[in-house]
Amino acid sequence: MKAIRVHQFGEPDAMQLEDVADLKPSGNQVLIDIKAIGVNPVDTYIRAGIYPVVPQLPYTPGLDAAGVILAVGPAVKHRKVGERVYCFGSETGCYAEQALCKEAQVYLLLDNVSFAAGAALGVPYPTAWFALFYRAHAMPGETLLIHGASGAVGLAALQIAKSNGIRAIGTAGTEAGLDLIRQQGAIAALDHTQIDYLSAIDELTCGQGVDVILEMLANVNLEKDLNVLAKFGRVVVIGNRGTIEIDPRAAMGRNASILGMSLFNATEEQLYSIHSALRAGLENGSLHPVINAELALAEAVQAHIKVMETGAKGKIVLVR
Ligand code: NAP
Repeated sequence: MKAIRVHQFGEPDAMQLEDVADLKPSGNQVLIDIKAIGVNPVDTYIRAGIYPVVPQLPYTPGLDAAGVILAVGPAVKHRKVGERVYCFGSETGCYAEQALCKEAQVYLLLDNVSFAAGAALGVPYPTAWFALFYRAHAMPGETLLIHGASGAVGLAALQIAKSNGIRAIGTAGTEAGLDLIRQQGAIAALDHTQIDYLSAIDELTCGQGVDVILEMLANVNLEKDLNVLAKFGRVVVIGNRGTIEIDPRAAMGRNASILGMSLFNATEEQLYSIHSALRAGLENGSLHPVINAELALAEAVQAHIKVMETGAKGKIVLVR
């Protein structure tokens, strides 16, 4: 089979398409014939060698994929050959024609969800759900700012918020991104490239501030976030690419909380519960991944360049 391989950490062109041996499941492993692969920013941090945990070289990148089960190991209890599935994580890497996953990493893909949309589920939707409900404990009727709503996690958060009675304000950096988040149900769309774009929040919240902020770029925004939070407001740091100086007094005065999160810390039980909730949303149509671009597996290098550019409009996937 073909797989993208990384032999040295580095720039996107560290990834090469190679022929590797076909895979065979053992124990509790499921073998997936991959049809689509989700490209996440974390894949680029790992490829560059700058993520806190990196795999042994050489390796095949990728956490998210969707496809059809080709074979199962003897200890697999619930999954069957021929089922449409998506995964979050694998044992062999998802930028490939096949991947071996533990049974617990694999979830059934509904017939009304395409493989490309399935590949957009594993990291972004559980991240948004975990941030909103496990970290911020967001409640229906609250007001949310999604700081970076035009990307994969932001759009997932927008759809989840809307279907749970949470009023969401979103930000984006392009007209196309702003249009998209309005179409997806944001009560207001603010341009994070403009000076003073957060001043609109005062009027949008009748002077109260927002109850929850999901932050996609904390090193740029955390100081500003604290000043638009309501009393007892919560900021969840989802994305961060550097350091920032903040005035802690802004948090004191509001009894505000700054909450970190990594989806990798979610337990198997939490993930099972989250994916069950997501399944209900996919079934009733309130959740529907937005695909920005579909590229071929051989175009992984371009996909890594694109996912780090501004002008997000949903998810980038590699398709076969
Ligand atoms: P993505 O699809 O590439 O989207 C990136 C988002 O960030 C876009 O909406 C982009 O908007 C926005 N952005 C750019 N500049 C911004 C600014 N100055 N202020 C606010 N937002 C800005 O990436 P993603 O998959 O949604 O992931 C978002 C971030 O969360 C990434 O840093 C990723 O590594 C991280 N993440 C963390 C976890 C976790 O477990 N903690 C899980 C998943 C993702 P425009 O392009 O419109 O400017």
